[in-house]
Amino acid sequence: MGQFQKIGNDLNNKLFMLREDLIPYSFGGNKARKAKLFFEEIDKGEYDSVVTYGSSHSNHCRIVANMSIARNKKCYIISPLEVSKFTFNSKFMEFFGAEIIQVPVEKVSETIENLLVELRKNKMNPYFIPGGGHGDIGTEAYVQCYSEIKKYERENAIFFDYIFFASGTGTTHAGLVCGQFINNDERKIIGLSIARKREKGQKVILDSVYSYLKGKKIAFSEMDIQKITYFIDEYVGLGYGKENEEVLATIKYVMKKYGIPLDSTYTGKAYYGMEQYLKKHQIQGKNVLFIHTGGTPLFFDDLKEF
Ligand SMILES: *Cc1c(COP(=O)(O)O)cnc(C)c1O
Repeated sequence: MGQFQKIGNDLNNKLFMLREDLIPYSFGGNKARKAKLFFEEIDKGEYDSVVTYGSSHSNHCRIVANMSIARNKKCYIISPLEVSKFTFNSKFMEFFGAEIIQVPVEKVSETIENLLVELRKNKMNPYFIPGGGHGDIGTEAYVQCYSEIKKYERENAIFFDYIFFASGTGTTHAGLVCGQFINNDERKIIGLSIARKREKGQKVILDSVYSYLKGKKIAFSEMDIQKITYFIDEYVGLGYGKENEEVLATIKYVMKKYGIPLDSTYTGKAYYGMEQYLKKHQIQGKNVLFIHTGGTPLFFDDLKEF
């Protein structure tokens, strides 16, 4: 679905990118890959509306709003007041006619529950998509992505020693770990946290992996999964949606040098984190894959600040 691209020798390693941002729907990204599977469920059922959750930066909400209006279904987005800076993604959510309900973050779950109850009372049939496309369906999307990585490796006689990407809800990460576990591959899959601290982030990823493997009736030991799950929280900077100088410098560099847009909420942080990780651990001469998880509209928010 995404496109593989050889970047060349950088950071003393052979760098490749998987351009999930080029997935051909609404500026692509990992949320497009996940949402495609959620909407396959929606298309099978008698749903007339979609309810989801996400901040004003959310790529997930942009895509879900787009896929909803394409089907003439009403889309409701519950959004935390705490991260409500107006972005190009917010603009798209509006443009796609989504109804955005802003509440303090601690009110989010009850607001979602109340809305679902209310819609059903009004004889509507809403489908709920967890924030970021979290859950087994989202995990499945990245198990499929892992298969695409394997296929690329087979066809190009290459093996990626390291895979880096931005990790948020952990679904992308969980899918890749499941893929690695199922195929029994020796490599390091490293998720760079964009907000969560290690303890919480790691637990959510592990729970997602366990849930997916159990659902598929695949036997595993928790220890074996823990050993291959690397979640790094050293480069979260100032927190979710907050840019810092190093990340902005990275975004400028990658755009100038490779013509590839990153953003300060997700991919810019991850790319910066990857650079720092490779340096710190003196990793050289390896095949390194960076998964560009999307977020192109956010690049333009950053561009305004350059
Ligand atoms: C949501 C998002 C992520 C994080 O993906 P998760 O599966 O939630 O961990 C990374 N990059 C971009 C651009 C995103 O929109």
